[in-house]
Formats: sequence, C-alpha cells, structure tokens
Amino acid sequence: MPGHRRRNWLVMMMCVLLGTVGQAEAVGKWMTSTFDGVDYVRLTDVWRFYGFSRKQGKPGYVSFGAGNRVVSLKERKQDFYMNNYRYILSYPVQERDGEMYISATDMSKLVDPVLRPRLTGRGKITTVVIDPGHGGHDAGAVSAYAREKDCNLAVGLKLRDKLRKAGFKVVMTRDRDFFLTLGERVAIANRTPDSLFVSIHHNSGRAGASGIETFTLAPHGTTSPFARTRRSEDLAGNNQDSENIALATAVHAHSIRTTSAIDRGIQRARFSVLCTIRRPAILFEGGFVTNPQEGSKVSSSSYQDTLAQCICDGIVRYIRNTRTGSAGHPRTGGGSTRTMYSSSGNARSNGVSAAGGSQSSIR
Ligand SMILES: [Zn+2]
Repeated sequence: MPGHRRRNWLVMMMCVLLGTVGQAEAVGKWMTSTFDGVDYVRLTDVWRFYGFSRKQGKPGYVSFGAGNRVVSLKERKQDFYMNNYRYILSYPVQERDGEMYISATDMSKLVDPVLRPRLTGRGKITTVVIDPGHGGHDAGAVSAYAREKDCNLAVGLKLRDKLRKAGFKVVMTRDRDFFLTLGERVAIANRTPDSLFVSIHHNSGRAGASGIETFTLAPHGTTSPFARTRRSEDLAGNNQDSENIALATAVHAHSIRTTSAIDRGIQRARFSVLCTIRRPAILFEGGFVTNPQEGSKVSSSSYQDTLAQCICDGIVRYIRNTRTGSAGHPRTGGGSTRTMYSSSGNARSNGVSAAGGSQSSIR
C-alpha cells in the first residue's frame, strides 16, 4: 500500500503497545499502519471487536455503536465523540484507501478505558483534594463580570460541603484567598493517601468563547498543544492514565448534561499540576469569565452550586465505576467485561471485582 507500511503485529507486540498501566491485555492480530511516525489501527477491526456497526450519531460525523453506546468521528479531525460527549484525540483520525484509522495511543489510552473501564481501584478513594486555582496576588482570569480566583474558591467550598455530605473526607489546597505554588498544590495531594485531585479553574478568551472543558494529563509518548515544551516523556501522572480519563469522563459528562454549556471537550495537557501528581487528577474549567453571559453566570452563587454538584456527582459516579466497571457517561449502562482479545484465552481478569472490594467503604 503506497504511502505507509503495514505489518501484522503478534499478540506480544500488541501487549507491549497496549500493556499500559491498568490496561495490560492482549489485543490480537489487529492490522496496524504507521502514518507520520504514529501507529494506527484500522477502525474496521476495532468496531468488529466491540461488536459495533454503523449507527445514527453526531450529524456530519461517521458513527458506530451497539446498544446504548455510540462513537462518532471524522477523518483528519481530533474531535471524537463517545455518547455525544466530546473528547480531543491525541492524533487525528486518518483515512487511506477508503479505510479509517485511529491511533493506537488513542485506542489504548482513551477509547478502550472509556468504553470498557477496568479501573484498578488502586488506593481506595476516601478523600478528595480540592484545589481552587490561583489565589492571593494571582487572580487568574479577570473580566468586568468575574474574577477567576473568587469563582474557583466559591465552587471549591461548595464542592467541599457536598462531598462531606456524601461521606468523603476533603482536603482543600486553599480555603481562603491566599497564594500557593503549583508545586505546593501537588505536594498536598501526593501526601494525602487514598485521594483523588480536582483542580478548579475558569477560563478567559475572546468575548464569544464559552463552555466547559476538562483536562487530564497527556498520555505517555504524546505531546500536548497546551504544553510550554513539546516534551512527551512519561510522567508520574501517567501511572493513573486509566483513572484520569475515567474521572474526567464522569465529571465532564455530568457537567455538560446538567448545565447545557458548550462542550469544549475532554482534553489532554501537560499542565504542571497534572504532571507529577501520583493520584487520579483532573483540571476542570467551569466557564469563561470573559464571556458576558457566562461570566455573569459563573460569578453567581446558584450556578457555582450547580457546578459543584456536577463535580460531586461525577466523583461519586467515578467511585461507583471502579466497583462496577461501567462507563462514565451518565446515560451509559454497564460496560462489557469481556476481554479485548486473547489468543490464548487467558487474558488477565479486569480488576473490577478487586476494585469493588476496596471501594465499598465509601458509602
Ligand atoms: Zn486558571
């Protein structure tokens, strides 16, 4: 085939590729191709594995699915929808000779962990570290409508109260208007056992920009358009890749569904607070203080309460997912627990039952 090379990967090779933390399973002889130095798998093979067929989905996109799961994508685009929630792929979808391809990294680090979560339940989650971004001399984004540091703190305090009611312990990186460095925020999370980390921010942009976006650490081997450097090395935060994307999915989907805000997607970044954290972690952007309508909204107590409730519900959902192995989308039912593929028929168990035992103390 001109323009790219093809090879059959042995099961062991795919184990190496997909043998990432929490996802180490054999995937079988999927046809792979390399475009621009990135390994891709053919979507025909992927959908066959999941039992997907063509489906009605996002207008203007090609959609596949089965039951209550639907996936929509478009060639040359990094926009990718699962159950109509937006994700930003690490690499664009490719099309060659009438076949569509998705990068192996996106398959192993995004699509499969969301469609078939097999969270390890590593370190039972009893505590949430809430990190209201900025503070003190660092106001973050500022407009005539709102000051980011104030919105972040207000949502954070409301979230604290809701999580306590739900039975969690809570640690605040700040509960007042003072400054602390990014390193200090990460250190608080890393010394809090059995915790997950939610950093709360609000955005700035051109006046028309609006919506909610949720960031997790870029997977190992990928760069991020938001990085100050184009580094792609493995980082401490990558040890939680599966947990990160599952937590992001649960919180983001609840927020989009409840607020009807513009869905700016679940995105990958190498922000400082995500790089060296050794806990499941997300950075949540609740809206644009620079947008006249949204800026007024995010500074109102009632909308701050809504955002806090969305994050709380997402966290509760995430914890439940570690027990049941269901997907993080609110509208999605239980995920399949069958293994992706194993030529020997003895791929390791999915870890769901182990997670269930360790999580049952939460509620
Ligand atoms: Zn910020």
